[in-house]
Amino acid sequence: MFDALADRLEGAWKKLRGQDKISQSNIQDALREVRRALLEADVNLQVVKDFVSEVETKALGAEVISGVRPDQQFVKIVHEQLIEVMGDVNVPLAEAETSPTVVLMAGLQGTGKTTATAKLALHLRKLERSCLMVATDVYRPAAIDQLITLGKQIEVPVFELGSDANPVEIARQGVERAKADGIDTVIIDTAGRLQIDTDMMAELATIKETVQPNEVLLVVDSMTGQEAATLTHTFHEQIGITGAILTKMDGDSRGGAALSVRKISGQPIKFVGVGEKVEALQPFYPERIASRILGMGDVLTLVEKAQEEMDLADAEKMQEKILEAKFDFTDFLKQLKLLKNMGSLGGIMKMIPGMNKLTNDQLEKGETQLKRCESMIRSMTVQERKNPDLLSSSPSRRRRIARGSGYKESDVGKLVSDFQRMRSMMQQMGQGRFPGMDGMFGG
Ligand code: GDP
Repeated sequence: MFDALADRLEGAWKKLRGQDKISQSNIQDALREVRRALLEADVNLQVVKDFVSEVETKALGAEVISGVRPDQQFVKIVHEQLIEVMGDVNVPLAEAETSPTVVLMAGLQGTGKTTATAKLALHLRKLERSCLMVATDVYRPAAIDQLITLGKQIEVPVFELGSDANPVEIARQGVERAKADGIDTVIIDTAGRLQIDTDMMAELATIKETVQPNEVLLVVDSMTGQEAATLTHTFHEQIGITGAILTKMDGDSRGGAALSVRKISGQPIKFVGVGEKVEALQPFYPERIASRILGMGDVLTLVEKAQEEMDLADAEKMQEKILEAKFDFTDFLKQLKLLKNMGSLGGIMKMIPGMNKLTNDQLEKGETQLKRCESMIRSMTVQERKNPDLLSSSPSRRRRIARGSGYKESDVGKLVSDFQRMRSMMQQMGQGRFPGMDGMFGG
């Protein structure tokens, strides 16, 4: 997967080898290579243009890091841009306030929609959420049978009314049934066509109107590249999607679809299909995909390490931020990383006078707390990390982070309020006052 794209990008780094630093003139060849690489990977043209221009701005604005060559730094910048284009963090499936959560599956025929319906049901079942699958594709009789067979295989019930019933009516009754049976999530498989067609869109729109889904997931075949971009655009414009499932990522996907969907629709890819089996579904993590596209783990680590060292030199800046109470979650995460690089928390704490009396138990508890904080912060968007106040005012953001990190909404709430408390305390400490720190980030 993504092999060709990775090879092509390799050519871009080469253009910068042997240079002392990135400059307006020497970067042009490298950017041209990136552009070609993406176009050959079948990424949508507008997406490519924006991508290249962002990389250019970032590369020219990047500080020189000692110990890092310009080509290595360029790899890192492209990596970060790949992550940004794909959406930064994994966005989990929406959950309705009151059951059932209704998920509407949309997409063309042959993209893997029916398979994805079953895969999603199995995924949710593993999370202890009960499911009902609804078969509304009455045009292809085999489609209903296919869903029934899959349902048996994964032990998830299927609601159907045969192939003479009206698809809208099937969907409506399916949701009613889920409600009556106390089912958590109902996933509606819909009819696909080989191409976008007015009747299919009209039917989908009516089903959406009727069942008011919490999610409309567009199933996109990752092998289709440019076509996927057009498809996403049309579906989003006419139906309004809330996310996508990218299928057949186990095949020889060139990468185009993975990079276009989010930019085109503003909606995240939530899952990827990585095989024909029902188990072959994974949550979509932009960071992992970006790393796979580049396949340059060692360079990325090297630049990160060097950046961290430079950050140490930035300690003064950090202090200023603290004094002005501008310290944000990004800074906090940096500090956590530094702590980790320096060894275990226990080791460090023991070096601090007065802290050496902490028991191993207390130290272990501290480390667990820090890990919790870290995974919650990692589920925040860049914007949220920079502006923690966004989180104190938005329960839906806190809920999303809770789901993304696997903690409770109240944990996220506590992290945010503790953080704000810590920030003002640090500010006071910086001014020479030392308030107590009891209970900070504790259980
Ligand atoms: P639908 O017409 O959109 O409902 O598509 P189906 O669910 O019937 O899938 C079409 C074909 O794609 C089937 O042969 C599936 O086994 C295959 N398929 C679906 N998802 C994946 C995937 O993630 N990887 C691979 N390799 N094949 C898949």
